[in-house]
Amino acid sequence: MPRPIFDCAVIGLGGVGSAAAYHLARRGVNVLGLEQFTPAHDLGSSHGETRIIRQAYFEHPNYVPLILRAYELFKELEETSGKQLLQQCGLLLAGPPEGETIQGARLAQHLHQIPLESVRAADWEDRFPGFRIPNGFDVVFEPVAGFLHVEETVRTHLDEAQKAGADLRFNIEVINWRKEGDQFVITTEFEEFIAHKLIVTAGAWTSELLNSLNVPLQVRRVVLCWNKVQSDCYNLSQGGSCFFMETALGEFYGFPSLDGQKLKLAEHGGGLDIANPDELIRTKLAGDGDRVAQFIESFMPQLKPQSERQAVCMYTLSPDHHFLVDEHPDITGIYLGAGFSGHGFKFTSVLGEILADLGSEGRTEHPIDFLRLSRFE
Ligand SMILES: Cc1cc2nc3c(=O)[nH]c(=O)nc-3n(C[C@H](O)[C@H](O)[C@H](O)COP(=O)(O)OP(=O)(O)OC[C@H]3O[C@@H](n4cnc5c(N)ncnc54)[C@H](O)[C@@H]3O)c2cc1C
Repeated sequence: MPRPIFDCAVIGLGGVGSAAAYHLARRGVNVLGLEQFTPAHDLGSSHGETRIIRQAYFEHPNYVPLILRAYELFKELEETSGKQLLQQCGLLLAGPPEGETIQGARLAQHLHQIPLESVRAADWEDRFPGFRIPNGFDVVFEPVAGFLHVEETVRTHLDEAQKAGADLRFNIEVINWRKEGDQFVITTEFEEFIAHKLIVTAGAWTSELLNSLNVPLQVRRVVLCWNKVQSDCYNLSQGGSCFFMETALGEFYGFPSLDGQKLKLAEHGGGLDIANPDELIRTKLAGDGDRVAQFIESFMPQLKPQSERQAVCMYTLSPDHHFLVDEHPDITGIYLGAGFSGHGFKFTSVLGEILADLGSEGRTEHPIDFLRLSRFE
């Protein structure tokens, strides 16, 4: 029997690949999705209950048009699926007035009219009772920010992609791929597949599949901590919000307590560089959670410093910590979404739409020039 030829194949069905498969299938593209693990697994970068989403994007204001579209698409996905994925509980941002976080958030607010409320020092205690905010800090509150239920979002993209006709295969590792004429031949552990276009969204494994790419990606082991709350002041049901603090110790962020028992938080920028994602140590290492405990002791008096639970996750860092979204520079018809550098999940819906544009039409109207590979030339 002749093998089916797919219009487009997506390698890696995690946060971004699940969304790409969904958007391709919704357009009627004959899409194949290949994933080495199970749906919404906890072995890559898209697990651990929640991910922050926010609009006053301090990393770079060019992300703002993309995040605004991401919100629209997540809401559409909620309507289509009937699931609640996005919770807009707001975000407390605190740091020195001249720091990158506050300066960057205010720049995004100014350029894109993002709602951002300055909170006076006299109101800090009433507004944010579980936080000890140092004198001299600036505090802003972004009411439209919040969090996404991470595994549920991946699962929903996958389910809706399948309903729209995507052929998704799990527990099947792609070993390599090659271009033959104007087609791609994808070799897996079990069989070969053929597709006209290829999208690589392989997260921490991207370098293994795209070793001809001349941009180094660094994989980092990052630890998430769940710590016991000692009062109800952090509870989502009591108005608890997400938070991000730029401190002299480092940048720490977290979520409201969802169950009234514990709260999840982590250090952004912490962690250990690793050479190979397949050799990631997922059990607790000496020192895991120590810096989070130090942060808690200084800034969150109603939280127990020692974590009750931890989970290991991976950041895939690009050289400038901005995303890589582009066609391969040397091989036409292959597109990549990678290097999300620890801040990509909130964009998964719009990244799926962008990669679907590229994988089906070869171009996108979305303003992604700042994410293209040519910036490294
Ligand atoms: C601890 C932590 C906290 C974070 N917090 C936030 C946050 O608050 N807000 C935010 O916006 N972002 C956050 N991020 C970043 C965000 O989660 C990631 O940028 C995003 O999830 C990356 O998605 P991805 O699709 O690139 O990777 P993944 O979701 O890991 O998907 C890649 C997939 O490719 C598959 N794959 C790889 N190689 C192969 C192969 N050869 N064959 C078949 N399948 C393959 C993998 O199994 C995996 O499923 C955080 C990340 C971490 C680790």
